[in-house]
Amino acid sequence: MLMFMQVQQPKTVEEAHALMVKQKMAPILAGGCWTRLGNRKWPMVIDLSELGLRYIEEDETEYRIGAMATQRDVEVYEPFKTFCRGVLPKAVKDILGVQFRSMATMGGSVAAKFGFSDIIPALLALRAEVRLFEAGRMPIEQYLTYGTRDLLLEIIVPKQEVPVAIEALRKSTSDFPYLTGSARLDDQGYSVYIGCRPGKPALATKACQLINEKGLDALDEAVTLIQEELSFQSNSHAGAEYRLEMAKNMFKRLVKEVAQWK
Ligand SMILES: Cc1cc2nc3c(=O)[nH]c(=O)nc-3n(C[C@H](O)[C@H](O)[C@H](O)COP(=O)(O)OP(=O)(O)OC[C@H]3O[C@@H](n4cnc5c(N)ncnc54)[C@H](O)[C@@H]3O)c2cc1C
Repeated sequence: MLMFMQVQQPKTVEEAHALMVKQKMAPILAGGCWTRLGNRKWPMVIDLSELGLRYIEEDETEYRIGAMATQRDVEVYEPFKTFCRGVLPKAVKDILGVQFRSMATMGGSVAAKFGFSDIIPALLALRAEVRLFEAGRMPIEQYLTYGTRDLLLEIIVPKQEVPVAIEALRKSTSDFPYLTGSARLDDQGYSVYIGCRPGKPALATKACQLINEKGLDALDEAVTLIQEELSFQSNSHAGAEYRLEMAKNMFKRLVKEVAQWK
């Protein structure tokens, strides 16, 4: 349950950022779905709902998803149903139910940088960027290791119809995933990201390099490199060895899927 003594509702992003800097311990409240877990009573929360960041816009080259756009907004946004074969609605559709997705925001889902995220692997494959108040525009890959307390304003998705694929494995519907992945095929070759190991999604660099050099005949050899470059751990959802074996198979499936795009 979310408990707090005081709520600040800034009206501008400048005001919100100044509050974030001054009140370092005050949580930022977006959808509040994650922040409300736990029993802590916060002296203050900073609510982003008055900032006008709930939008999805597009121009000729990119889509811009405001930080307060909900997962459901993404799911029902008409152009996303066909863009890259509906990869964004597909990324959110298994996160609990419609009521939850109507509250949980895209900004909160990216800013929290959850290892189990269904959304981040898709954004990595799409070469999405984030726009931050302080740091400006930054690739999402870089944002995953960016440590400054900064306000995420929007997520920017380039309008490139390249082959991308995503996958998330769950023990049961509406559970957290125990393994996620995404793939992209472009002029640079294949990029495959594996997430929920349970760490944040990361590029399987060596495995991709091998198939980029030798082609798909080297897939079996490529997946043996995954354990050298990515770490897998056990938690309540899956064991480390199981995750690794499933990651090898997921890598193959994702690569084959993007290879077959016509
Ligand atoms: C029970 C449960 C099950 C879930 N299952 C899944 C799942 O299967 N797959 C999945 O991908 N996700 C899952 N999630 C996560 C969920 O999809 C959202 O990512 C999560 O709730 C955060 O979104 P929010 O809008 O609620 O953010 P909040 O809870 O409001 O904030 C989350 C964090 O992000 C920070 N933050 C929020 N907005 C910004 C911003 N604009 N700038 C900077 N920092 C910001 C906050 O400070 C806070 O630390 C689950 C969450 C819950 C509670």
